[in-house]
Parts: sequence; C-alpha cells; structure tokens
Amino acid sequence: MIPCPVCNAPNHHLAVVCVSCHGFLQGRTENLDLFSTTWEVIERPGRALHMIALARHKNYALFLSAAGGIAMAFALFWLMKAGEVSGSLLNILAAGLLAGPLFGVIILLLTSGLAWGVARVFRLRMTFRNTFATFSYSLVPVVLSMVCVLPIEILTFGQFFFTRNPSPALLKPGAYYILLSLDALFLLWTLILQQFGLRVLLNAGWVKTLLVQCIPLGILAGLLSWGISVLLAIA
Ligand SMILES: [Zn+2]
Repeated sequence: MIPCPVCNAPNHHLAVVCVSCHGFLQGRTENLDLFSTTWEVIERPGRALHMIALARHKNYALFLSAAGGIAMAFALFWLMKAGEVSGSLLNILAAGLLAGPLFGVIILLLTSGLAWGVARVFRLRMTFRNTFATFSYSLVPVVLSMVCVLPIEILTFGQFFFTRNPSPALLKPGAYYILLSLDALFLLWTLILQQFGLRVLLNAGWVKTLLVQCIPLGILAGLLSWGISVLLAIA
C-alpha cells in the first residue's frame, strides 16, 4: 500500500491515481517497445519489470511467450531424446518451430493462472494480465539462449543433440557440457527475473513470493513429465 500525497488515503502500490481523490500517484508508460523494454529487462530488471507492471498495454507479451515456447519445445525434445523417434533433424526443427509458439502461449497462460490462484490463496492481489506480462518478459533470457546457444548446439551435434544413442555427451563432452551450462545459466536468469517480477506485483515477503513462483512451476513440471511419459509410451 502507498499513501496518497494529497489526501493520505491508502492505495495499491501499482495504482496510478488515488482511489479516493483521483490525485496523481505515479506515471506510467502507455505502450511497451519490444527492443527498448527487452534491453531494459537485461540492464535494469527491477525498473523494467516495474514499468511493465504499470504499462497500460502489455505489448509483445504474447510474442515473447510464443518465442519462449520454441525454446521450451526444443528443451522438451532434448529431455525426451526426440531424435530416437523422429528420424531426422529436419523433423525435430519443423516440430519445434511450428508447435513451439502455441505451446509457449499455453504454458504461459497456465503458469500465470496458477500463480494468480496461489496468490489469491495467500490473499495477495495481482491481475492476470500483469502476471502474464511479467512471466512473458521474464522469458527474455530463455529467448536469448534460443538465439545464441541453440544454433551452436544444432550445428555442433545435429540430430545427435536429441539422441540417447549415440549420446552427445560422449561425442564431444567438452562442448556438450559447456553448452548445457550456458542453457542452465539462461534458465536461472529467467527464474530470477520471475522472482523480481512477482515481488513487484505482490509487494509481499519473500516466502510467499517464492511459493507463488514455485508451486505453479512444480505443478507444471509434474504435468509435463506425465505428458512426456504418455507421449513416449505411444511412440
Ligand atoms: Zn488521494
């Protein structure tokens, strides 16, 4: 809660005008520009996520969730060792590029909905739109890893990046573990941004904020691993 400088009425920390006297509380951006907002997320994440939470239009949130979805699809193919069943690298690439965007949007809608629900259980207030935008812009590092690391992985290992036999870890162990460590760092960066973003939205203690982040991710991981086991059983 923030007090109004004019009438002292308590207002939500992300309110733009006072609920009581309609006085000005804080300025906000109307539209988000993709490149400058993405750059701000990298350079000054706290400020950027606050700006995203206040922005009237959450531009490019859907685009980033779709782009992140492509990265998530390839991560899933790597986990599933999809190269064992797909036949060719071209099939894997086509599947990731075609199904990834929709997959990303669905995953983000689900995560945001779950996080919104968990927040409600703790009697914390955040809008679904803000939750979705925060999670989408938190995907910036994952999208970066897809642009910078994934092409190197595919150029180095080809289809064998996604196979169990031969294992990429045995083909070129040094390159494999360096590339995987880079992926892990980008993923960690995304998780830290999510935490930053949820703190901006919730303005609550770190235990509750961490639970609002981790419970949905845990449920999602459970659902995905169940989905993978079903898919692999069919294949
Ligand atoms: Zn006021």
